Amino acid sequence: MDALAGVKTIKDFPIPQRMKAWVLGDPGELTLTDKPVPSPKRAEVLVRIDAAAICATDLEVIYQGPPGLIQGGLPFNKNFTPGHEYMGTVVALGPGVDEYSIGQRVACEIHAGCGQCKRCREGMYTSCHNYGLNYGEHDKGHRANGFTTDGAFCEYQVNNINTLVAIRHDMSDEEGALVVTAGTAMYALTELGGLVAGESVVVSGAGPIGLMVVAVAKALGAQPVILTEMRDDRMKIARQLGADFTVNVGQVADAVAAVKALNGGKGVDYVVECSAASRAVNDAVHMVNRGGKVCLAAFTHEPALVDIAHIVSNNIYVYGIRGEGKSAVHRAEAFMRQKRFDATKVHTHTFPLADLPTAIRYAKDRVDDAIKVVVKPRLEAARKVAAE
Ligand SMILES: [Zn+2]
Ligand SMILES: [Zn+2]
Repeated sequence: MDALAGVKTIKDFPIPQRMKAWVLGDPGELTLTDKPVPSPKRAEVLVRIDAAAICATDLEVIYQGPPGLIQGGLPFNKNFTPGHEYMGTVVALGPGVDEYSIGQRVACEIHAGCGQCKRCREGMYTSCHNYGLNYGEHDKGHRANGFTTDGAFCEYQVNNINTLVAIRHDMSDEEGALVVTAGTAMYALTELGGLVAGESVVVSGAGPIGLMVVAVAKALGAQPVILTEMRDDRMKIARQLGADFTVNVGQVADAVAAVKALNGGKGVDYVVECSAASRAVNDAVHMVNRGGKVCLAAFTHEPALVDIAHIVSNNIYVYGIRGEGKSAVHRAEAFMRQKRFDATKVHTHTFPLADLPTAIRYAKDRVDDAIKVVVKPRLEAARKVAAE
């Protein structure tokens, strides 16, 4: 690291000049290269990445491009390092930073936002109006590591202090990498949704986000929490995380009727759609009761057919969610600190950073029933030391 003036480091955490970093070439093409270790600026720290999880949105960025946005365009062949779900250890403090100390373990949110637009001022920094404007004459200071700035499939990254959440010393790296995922579930249910204890929730689709929504909904006191899903192993994990009922949508003739039957025939207060299945949105608006809310948390690639008249005549709210916001991640971490649910049930595989392509294949093709797959830079280092 070529430290900028005023940057603090300590000798217990020596920082190299260069680091290993994966770089995105053409769609789907990742190359392990090396890059300079970046130096933190004002209100930033340097984080040594201890664990980075692979998310379905990483696959979107690596294979399709959006929501990756680098220098106003697609993220391909721009020396861009993807990866956005990670945790690590603070190893250098930017000028004036005293909110965190070197050696502190932190979960890292993705979006720093520009801090000056209407949405950032409202705490909705994932909807920043200056998204991706961080280059040349368009530099508004926006950062979303792994989307609009370099991300976590490397050894070190700079983070604005507004993206950090301190984690307990005894929380594993893998669990730490899931804090922000749980924060997304929290944001969907409370900050954006307004859920209060005792309300009923359906989660459709048991990917990592869906499973975290089940866990957080139950921890918030939702009743009942119902998961709709097709895979038995995922339904079992959802029950361990607090689902009161699971509905196998591959085995029932009518998923909407099955859900309604479990909640007094009226449908539920909330559906959080995490499956991206083509009929899931229309099913969701029929699973909520009159005045209920539907949160859309999955990327669908095709436009969905939805019964708008049903939404209008029943006063149903439909809203999308991007990432997290309004400090929801801090509240999710507080639940995990109290061990209100065991997020590690969602983690299935860990690989060294050098094996990122294998890790991505496990996540993408669900090899060996993979759910959340993590890569660790220091796992590789530990093995090398052991071999010497
Ligand atoms: Zn993600
Ligand atoms: Zn903004």
